[in-house]
Amino acid sequence: MQYRFWFVVGSQFLYGPEVLETVEKRAKEMAAELSAKLPYPLVYKVTAKTNAEIADVVREANYDRACAGVVTWCHTFSPSKMWINGLANLQKPYCHLATQYNKEIPNDAIDMDFMNLNQAAHGDREHGFLAARLRMPRKVIAGHWQDPAVAGRLGSWMKTAIGAAVSKELKVMRFGDNMREVAVTEGDKVEVQTKLGWQVNTWAVGDLVKEMHAVSEESIDALMDTYRQHYDIATEDLAAIRYQAREELAIRAMLDREGCRAFSNTFQDLYGMEQLPGLASQHLMAEGYGYGGEGDWKVAAMTAIMKAMGEGGNGASAFMEDYTYHFTDDDGYSLGAHMLEVCPSLADPAARPRIETHHLGIGMNEKDPARLVFEGKAGDAIVVSLVDMGGRLRLICQDIVCVKPIMEMPNLPVARVMWKAMPNLTTGIECWITAGGAHHTVLSYDVSAEQMKDWACMMGIEFVHISKDTTVEALEKELFLNDLAWKLR
Ligand code: MN
Repeated sequence: MQYRFWFVVGSQFLYGPEVLETVEKRAKEMAAELSAKLPYPLVYKVTAKTNAEIADVVREANYDRACAGVVTWCHTFSPSKMWINGLANLQKPYCHLATQYNKEIPNDAIDMDFMNLNQAAHGDREHGFLAARLRMPRKVIAGHWQDPAVAGRLGSWMKTAIGAAVSKELKVMRFGDNMREVAVTEGDKVEVQTKLGWQVNTWAVGDLVKEMHAVSEESIDALMDTYRQHYDIATEDLAAIRYQAREELAIRAMLDREGCRAFSNTFQDLYGMEQLPGLASQHLMAEGYGYGGEGDWKVAAMTAIMKAMGEGGNGASAFMEDYTYHFTDDDGYSLGAHMLEVCPSLADPAARPRIETHHLGIGMNEKDPARLVFEGKAGDAIVVSLVDMGGRLRLICQDIVCVKPIMEMPNLPVARVMWKAMPNLTTGIECWITAGGAHHTVLSYDVSAEQMKDWACMMGIEFVHISKDTTVEALEKELFLNDLAWKLR
């Protein structure tokens, strides 16, 4: 899908045709110039002067699958009662760009004509009131449109809106059920489909095994070549790698046939398979598919969505699990990994991931599964968890700083990422556990906490952010008030 965003400019007839022509000319110029800097095109649609024009453009936007969001701005004053009928029906993400055509006040040239043409300062306030009055989920971005920071923020919002569009049409394939007795990976699939659009359905592991038997040796040869291009083979057991290739090709065939962008499986249900898919799931994640272990379809879906939100549609966002802490006197580190399935998009580019085979005691593996082993890269990142609170969904996001792992851990047979949690390790743990965050997360170097907040706003779900400024006391109060507020909605 070639997504685009619509630029709708507010005005009215009061100013006469000359001003309206100028507004339209400038709006087109701004949309064209901004589009060159933005990740998706911003298409000028209309200088709206009537209730009917606004209602029409909103109707069109709602029905156009390629329209991923609407950006509004009021060059001149646009009485906002004429926006009510349109905005009340808007179903696409909405951003109010509070900008102005000219950057500075022209000292000598400014007169009353100039003021009447360039009055975004009060036009945008009238416009903002109405959206506030309608309690509309929206993003407000202020600043001069040629400022690179403004284009940067608008671009980030656009990518977030792509995350909303992908969410609304997302299909998740489940192989097997949730891991027995686990609570946090459960959830109300009807509620999730209503709120987020996800179609979460199950397919038999037997169907996958049948598909695996149909995979040709030639297609396995081709995928082995791809593996060799990207990874170092550090095992004698080529048959184990070929088996993973067979699994990958079969899973991919089923996902593509059903239009699914994410899948989950469980080590408790591998009947007819020799290995838990390790390398297979890792390479599928590198190709942009979402994945969740132990039947965690929520984290699988979130991984697919956050990958789509990353630059180019396949950013460094991946399924992760908090495993072990390293407490130090001054702070400490978290070690994240999974039993096999860590996406190589997180890998430090300084070293190629290695394909290794090791015994895996958990689950029903007849053979030692092949998997990619690597270190995660250093850099600012976030971890995100979606939990079902019963009656509502809560999205928890924590800021982290990934570091080069401070030890080699030569006997650890899986990919690993090490990070410092905000505000520090112990307070971070207390906040995360207080909020009910899962052990499974999506870790992302590409997507920001602000984007996840905006995504939660677009989807109408609760958002909790654990940042460098968070305290347990403030968080407890926030969660208590959130609980009351969400019961009223
Ligand atoms: Mn797990």
